[in-house]
Amino acid sequence: TRIRPSSKRCAVIGGSGFLGRHLVEKLLDKGYTVSVFDIRQSYELPGVTFHQGDLCDKLGLLTALRDVSLVFHCASPAPASDNKALFERVNIQGTKTVIEACTEAGVQKMVLTSSASVVFEGTDIKNGSEELPYAKKPIDYYTQTKIEQEKLVLKACNKDRGFLTVAIRPHGIFGPRDPQLVPILVDTARRGKMKFIIGDGSNLVDFTYVENVVHGHILAAEFLRPESPICGKAYHITNDEPVRF
Ligand code: NAD
Repeated sequence: TRIRPSSKRCAVIGGSGFLGRHLVEKLLDKGYTVSVFDIRQSYELPGVTFHQGDLCDKLGLLTALRDVSLVFHCASPAPASDNKALFERVNIQGTKTVIEACTEAGVQKMVLTSSASVVFEGTDIKNGSEELPYAKKPIDYYTQTKIEQEKLVLKACNKDRGFLTVAIRPHGIFGPRDPQLVPILVDTARRGKMKFIIGDGSNLVDFTYVENVVHGHILAAEFLRPESPICGKAYHITNDEPVRF
């Protein structure tokens, strides 16, 4: 294996969510011991310890992060909630709290789930690399807070203090138990509301299968070492070719 067995104790913040639960299941398969920290508990699974709490609460986090060496942060309010104060509180203030809790608890590595939309300026991007700058005019407030969140996490990467970070940027995620993307598309189509085209029908959008997103997160975690070039960097995760939409 690539990492020491002692570092196989991890926590998934947002582990009750769509992506989080897939991540938890794969981590268990790979022999990790998993704690979930989330404001809700949506399932039970042998081998998983649940900690219910708000990630803005440092004391609650510290309990969940005891003896944890690796943290995945994939919690966020739903983009559709359109609640500015909530995005700001959870994605910005909450992420600062998560970073503080991680450093206080002696966590060594953190993988953030960011979003490909952090580089989206409103025009199609094909073969976009991680060299693209952050969007100057993000498409919505959710994305603005995802940009701030990613900057905070990547800036916190500190080899001397033994805290390493990396960010993964998926776009639309699909797969089993997807609560949003495909169900909303199907529902909109059923209600006859997809009979128009925005643009000329050649707009590009990227969807990624959830297992690939999970794989990207675990690879990033396992390659995150002091000498690794991935420290403090962000990576897009895609299925290869974007689709016309
Ligand atoms: P989800 O809504 O299914 O899961 C998010 C989880 O975070 C939920 O279980 C929720 O209870 C939890 N959460 C929210 N606020 C919290 C708080 N204050 N404290 C603790 N837990 C809290 O969403 P998802 O689709 O699994 O998204 C996971 C991550 O991936 C998010 O960071 C999202 O921005 C990112 N992302 C998702 C997509 C997508 O298409 N689903 C695309 C790009 C990026």
